Amino acid sequence: MSGKGDTTAIISQPWGGATHTFQEWPVRTECPHCGSLVLTVLQYDTGTLTWIMCCFLMFIGLFLGCCLVPFCLDNCKDVTHICPDCKREVGRYYRI
Ligand SMILES: [Zn+2]
Repeated sequence: MSGKGDTTAIISQPWGGATHTFQEWPVRTECPHCGSLVLTVLQYDTGTLTWIMCCFLMFIGLFLGCCLVPFCLDNCKDVTHICPDCKREVGRYYRI
């Protein structure tokens, strides 16, 4: 050991180009729970920004109607990446 203090193991990705940086779209990654190479399934969770936007949109909605609310809501939610094989959480993307 050279004493660099590395704690993160760099795992070579056989699929190439896949990273563990989760965004708001499905990613190919190795599930840490079952070890399968999977394309994650997205699940939108209510996060901090959702509540802020919810309050904001309800306020706006009083004047403009509620037509904008469904359009914006998913875009404000945190995204949880689920393994389609074992249905467990692989990672999460936070808006805030
Ligand atoms: Zn899994």
